[in-house]
Amino acid sequence: MKILKEHAPGETGTSPVAAKITAGLDDPGLVFVFPTQISADSWAKASLDFSGRSCVDLDRFLGWDSLLRTLRANPPSPELREADVQSRLLWAYCLIEEEKKNPSLGRLINPSQTPPSGLAWGLASAAPSLFEAAASIRAKVNDGSLPEDQELIQDYEFLAANYDAFLRNHGIYEPARLPWRGDPEKRYLLFCPSLMPGFRPELGSSVPGLSIETWEPGTPGSAAAIGISPSLASFGDGPSVRKPLLLSFSSLRDELDYVFGVCRRLLDQGLPPSELALSLPSLGADLTAHVSRAARSWGLPLQYRGGRALSDSPIGRLLEAVARALGEGFSLRGLKNLFDPGLAAWKEREHCLSLIGIAKRYNIPEFSADPDYTMSLWSKTLGLESGQAESLPSFFQRLRKSCAALSGSRSFAALEIALHAFIDDLLDEKRFQVYGTLTLERIFEELSALKSWEIRLAGKTGALKPFEVLRAMLAHRLYSPADSAQAISVYPYHLGLMSAARLHFVLEASVESSSAAVRLLSRVPQEISPPKDEATLTDVLFDSMDLVKTVFCHAEQSLDGYSIAHPYFFRRSARRMAIETISIPDSPEAVETNAWEELRAPALPAKLPSLSLEAVQGSFKDLKRGLLGSPESRGAQDPRENQRRGGLPPPLFFDAESRLSPVPGPRPALRADRLLRIKAFDAAGLVKLNPRTLGYLALCPFRWFLSGIPGLEAEIADPAILAEGSLMHDMIRFLLEADGSELLPASGPGDSPSYEPPSLSSDRSRSSREEKIKNAFRNALQKTLSRSGYSLRLALESAYPKIQDRIGRILDYEGSLREEGWLRSDFERVLSMELPDLGLALEGRADRVVFRTARIALDADSSMQASDASSPGSPPGEGCLLIDYKRKRCPAKKEFLTDESGRIQDFQINAYAAMLESAGFPVLQAFYWSIEDNKPVAVFGSGKQRPDRASFEPERGALGKALIEASERIREGRFLEIKPSKQACSNCPVRAVCRIHFSAERS
Ligand code: SF4
Repeated sequence: MKILKEHAPGETGTSPVAAKITAGLDDPGLVFVFPTQISADSWAKASLDFSGRSCVDLDRFLGWDSLLRTLRANPPSPELREADVQSRLLWAYCLIEEEKKNPSLGRLINPSQTPPSGLAWGLASAAPSLFEAAASIRAKVNDGSLPEDQELIQDYEFLAANYDAFLRNHGIYEPARLPWRGDPEKRYLLFCPSLMPGFRPELGSSVPGLSIETWEPGTPGSAAAIGISPSLASFGDGPSVRKPLLLSFSSLRDELDYVFGVCRRLLDQGLPPSELALSLPSLGADLTAHVSRAARSWGLPLQYRGGRALSDSPIGRLLEAVARALGEGFSLRGLKNLFDPGLAAWKEREHCLSLIGIAKRYNIPEFSADPDYTMSLWSKTLGLESGQAESLPSFFQRLRKSCAALSGSRSFAALEIALHAFIDDLLDEKRFQVYGTLTLERIFEELSALKSWEIRLAGKTGALKPFEVLRAMLAHRLYSPADSAQAISVYPYHLGLMSAARLHFVLEASVESSSAAVRLLSRVPQEISPPKDEATLTDVLFDSMDLVKTVFCHAEQSLDGYSIAHPYFFRRSARRMAIETISIPDSPEAVETNAWEELRAPALPAKLPSLSLEAVQGSFKDLKRGLLGSPESRGAQDPRENQRRGGLPPPLFFDAESRLSPVPGPRPALRADRLLRIKAFDAAGLVKLNPRTLGYLALCPFRWFLSGIPGLEAEIADPAILAEGSLMHDMIRFLLEADGSELLPASGPGDSPSYEPPSLSSDRSRSSREEKIKNAFRNALQKTLSRSGYSLRLALESAYPKIQDRIGRILDYEGSLREEGWLRSDFERVLSMELPDLGLALEGRADRVVFRTARIALDADSSMQASDASSPGSPPGEGCLLIDYKRKRCPAKKEFLTDESGRIQDFQINAYAAMLESAGFPVLQAFYWSIEDNKPVAVFGSGKQRPDRASFEPERGALGKALIEASERIREGRFLEIKPSKQACSNCPVRAVCRIHFSAERS
């Protein structure tokens, strides 16, 4: 991508603001005032460059708020205390509490509804300007610019009077109401005064000793000297009227890719990131998430300069998590938030993890709107676990009590004690990060300030909830995270004005984009319509952004839908350039996706973060050939080589020696023996496989590997459906065991201890069978709930009619088997077969194994675990029948029978049969049986295709071949390969964590 000349960085020193500053730098009495301290600081820093000085007097670069502080006269009495955000917030909460009992407001708070607590901050912010707001509303109503609305006027007058009484009663003064005083030694040059709330042109003449000059961008001859400043009057005019540059895009994604593509190129050419700036309409969560994602993709460092709320600091988020956990009765989500290691270090970390584990295991709801219900689940659940970990229930009780103590504190003093106790008892302060400690100190400072106001207000704070007030306070108190000079600054519009950056992208400049900034800059109460001069204010805002080199951008398809460019660009006859999709560079992620699609390692973008690059490269099977090339060419200049050397391979599967090798060389093989560190793969030194995972390994090894990561697949499945399945299994076992023993004639010595299928359908009336099913359901339900959690009771109970129907069908089928001569059977038979030569152990659990005679069943019970593959030679006609129940669909024939290449896709019955036969029990017939369809699907032993056991030989061969291939793949360390295919991916439960899909879906 070419960087157009239009987008090249500009020169700060040639801007009109620089001219003003340079001309005034030698005058020590001249103070440069900017709308914000951020813009003041950025021009102070830039002036070192363009003035050629080694230092400038920083005190002479002030933001408007700082100037106001220096101009205000002293308070009328030293006993009075200055109002601050804490006192205003307490006033607002007291007012809301009062309104609940005795409504006085008609429009601002609906008298028929409970006032929302969120209103408190709005009232607190409006408090300093309530008098002006009330007067302004009355004036607007009088001059006809606002419709007649007596209630609104009354509301503001009531608020102003109420706040005034609050100030008087408690000896507080509002600094915004103090008169101004000038300093004859100083003169002030105000840049863009229209953007300074409360500025009035007559200030210079109305305040004795105050000398002010103003400068506005965008209008020739705009410099206007107010007061006495003859030297300043000699400054030249404002900037010539320049036409702003507006780039239009079809979508926000295009806009971000284009802008970040340009930034990336400039940084690669050596421009420091601090010379670039971005402005967004506001730093809302959605927009910043999109921007951050795109910047990450381009490897660009960003720093958001809008300040961060203390509630976003680690301890602030922890307090929010406490409130949420209590509000949901410690739901699973609540616990995960609370124990997030990014927030704080917990002393009893194992107990925290155990609680999350128990919540998952017993299906404590992910989210709950009924805390009492969730707490009742916890008391039952922890009762179930009490035998295993005595200290866990006591930890949970301490946690609950500490959280409740925070939330239930009746005063800020009590809250402070409760917060100290919470930290001392549960958190490990020594392991806090510096950042966490600093923000914790800030939070305690806020709490102390609230406490001191509470003392001053002498208990007049009524029924306030201190925890809620503190959280509201933290949500609006900003702090500055540590600055990174090596990052591109991102501002909200109201702070990005007058930036001294050499290239400034103003993003998302749609028709609505300026409203938040204008409202903040004019500090108009929400209820009053936008200021009359909104258009002028917006023009000054955008003009002030266009001082050095600014590129405005607008996308038709924004996050909120279709939008149009701001009318400012029409008013200023902007130069507009539509950027076609074709000229937008592919993001590194998009390039990666293409590389995946083509499975071409060399097409990978070099700009991917090194860890990602490692992971991706490792997944291409032609890595060595494609990227490393031949040994001769390896010394050559592949730019990716350096990155690869710097990146870390996944730690578990590489040996340290080759990882530390400084010489680039062939990638080290994955270590198969380390697979056994993962419990799901370890079968006493052999790699454990089951029919399902064998299928995964054949199709996509990465999917197989992920199937061994604990909880990954289970989390994806619906717990109610899993519990329903295990409940049905329990019921079947219960029914068959109970009825089997009941129906069997008294056993003689040597008879089989195994079960006999019942003949319920023929011998018993339907109603008695239903009664039995109901009893079985009750027993199994109890067992399932104590195993999977009491939260599933409702789901399982409501599934009863469906379960009853399914069980009835199974029992009917069992009856028909008996009539066919299959006598003794076993349910959920655990099978295994060790293959030491292959380094594998095949395991599984067959739903049903049915035997012809009592003797063979007895043998099966005693020697099923034997791994000897030789057949003991069964009597003719003796053997077993294998059934696997499927809730819905049975595998199709083409899945379990060999295809032209001699392969199969479904290994289940085939592997069960192999394991049974390896233990010496010939399998004569095998079926899948669909409960839903109520019919068997013959695998072998009947039907046309595989009428007997011998005809199943091709499939036995296919199983053997698959096991040998699996063994080779594991031994050769090729078990992390990603092999996407329609067949493998269409029902893959780990798509969300698979890089190929992750990558494709995000781009
Ligand atoms: S989504 Fe496809 S490529 Fe990814 S792990 Fe699953 S089967 Fe393999």
